[in-house]
Order: sequence, then structure tokens, then C-alpha cells
Amino acid sequence: MPFGMRDSCRKTSVTCSLVRSTPPGYQLPYAAIGATCTEGCVFKSKGCFVQTSLTAKMARAQDGAARGHSPLDVMREEATLINRAYRNGVPQDGGRDGQRGRDLRLHVGGDVGSAEGAELLAEAARGWRVRKGGVSWTYTHWWREVPRSAFGEINVLASVESPEEIEVAAAAGYPAAITVDAFPSRRAFELPGSSFRLIPCPAEVRGDAEERVTCVSCRLCLDRDLLALKVPRAIAFEAHGPQAAKVRDTLIQLRRSRSAAAPQSLRGPRREDAMKLREMKISGEGERREAAAQKEERHP
Ligand code: SF4
Repeated sequence: MPFGMRDSCRKTSVTCSLVRSTPPGYQLPYAAIGATCTEGCVFKSKGCFVQTSLTAKMARAQDGAARGHSPLDVMREEATLINRAYRNGVPQDGGRDGQRGRDLRLHVGGDVGSAEGAELLAEAARGWRVRKGGVSWTYTHWWREVPRSAFGEINVLASVESPEEIEVAAAAGYPAAITVDAFPSRRAFELPGSSFRLIPCPAEVRGDAEERVTCVSCRLCLDRDLLALKVPRAIAFEAHGPQAAKVRDTLIQLRRSRSAAAPQSLRGPRREDAMKLREMKISGEGERREAAAQKEERHP
């Protein structure tokens, strides 16, 4: 996943920052990690890319400023930052041709923290589009707690660490992005525990190619309905960043502890996940996906 840093139109507030990508094409808000990311994220303070790369200093400053603040306070600040940006129109340097509204990659660092936080961001994303901005997209570890509907028009992927969770997230209406210790192949692959095809993030596998892939040129996470494809897909990221070894180690430990503590997890979703999956299917999410898949077959 490519990240940008320097920008002439960088806006910094107490707990959040709004940074333009390099090269331009999308805008990246960062929010305080300590206050907003769930403890369920296995990388929080254990190899998180934002906490360990070029952005580490900013992340530390935001965390310090957010001490004593609720996740919703931080989301209010992120939403305000977006709402105040480009009041007269979002720059038209986005899209594959560089002539469309700039896309918005919500909180590269940080997460929504609650359904109310997601709703605030959804409203800010709507405003961004009304000001001629492009697509808003993000990833969340809060997918178990926050209903997909709270994100409104934001394209949001569930961040997961095990193949079984891909199916559970899908049943909750979320396409997934899984972090793996290493890609078994540069082509789409499958992992035991999930029937989904996993697409290695093109920015990671083709990052050094002559024609570098960025999220804006790839757009898989931005505006494709990965769940509606004939063979549903999820995105795979490989452990990367200055602490890639630590991330790999965390993933390997996680796999071992899950298989030791719950042998059933090798065969399928955890019990509470399986129940959630069943509830979602009963509430009609399965039918929605089925209908979308049929539509794609009719209009490929
Ligand atoms: S799959 Fe595409 S859109 Fe998603 S993070 Fe990778 S490059 Fe960006």
C-alpha cells in the first residue's frame, strides 16, 4: 500500500493530519492511533506501519495530544479537517488520468472507534464528493462492532488476520483485506479456511515496476465491489515496513496460538463468528451478495 508524505497543503490539527499523497492523486488523513484503534488489532504498538515508518513521529505527537480524548473526539476532528479542506472545490488531479476529483484515503493511521465515528466520516466523505472530490476509502479493524451501513458511501474493507475472518466479514457486508507474513505467489491465491481468492496488492508486487502502481491507478479497494464478483475476492497485503520481521513474527505467533487454543479455528470460523455469520445470512446479506453476483453475470 503506497503512502505519501510531504505536501504544500498539509493541514495539521491536534490529533489528526491531512496529507497529500506523493505523487498527488489522493488525500490522506491520519488520526491518533492510541485513542481510536481497537486493542483487537494485533499490530497496534507491535509493528504497525504508521507507528514505525516515516510517519512515526507524527503518530507519537497525535497520540500524545489525544490522551484523555475519546475515539469520537478524534473522529470529530478528522471530519472537521476534511470538511474544512478545499471549501471552493477539491483539486482535480485524481483518477487514473489525473484529471478527476482527488480521492480520499481515510485515516491511514487510526480507525473509526465507533459507529458514530464512522457516521461522522461518512458525512465528511459525502461533503468531499459534493465538492467534486473523488472516492473515499478506508480499512477498519472495527468491522465486528460497527455495522457496514454506518460507513455510508465510504468504500471500506475489513482488516483481518486470518482467512476464516474473511468469510465472517463478508457476511457482515465487508470485503476484506488480510495481512499475510509472505505472499505464496505474486498471482491470486487461496488460503485454507476461506473460499475467497486473494489478490496480492498490486502496489506491493509491482511497486518497483517501471510503471508504478498506486491505489489511484489500481482502484481495487476504491470502487470495485469485491464481494459481488463471480468468485469473491479479498485483498492481501504482505508484511512490510521497517518492522516487517516483527509483523511476520506476530502473524506466525497468532496462527500458532489460535490453533493451540482452539483447534476448531483450523476448520472454520470461531463459534461467535459462526453465529454472527448465521445471523447475517438470515438477515438477508447473503441474498444481497447473490443478487449482485447474478447481476455481474448478466452484465460482465
Ligand atoms: S489493492 Fe490496489 S487499491 Fe488496494 S491498497 Fe493495493 S494498490 Fe491500493
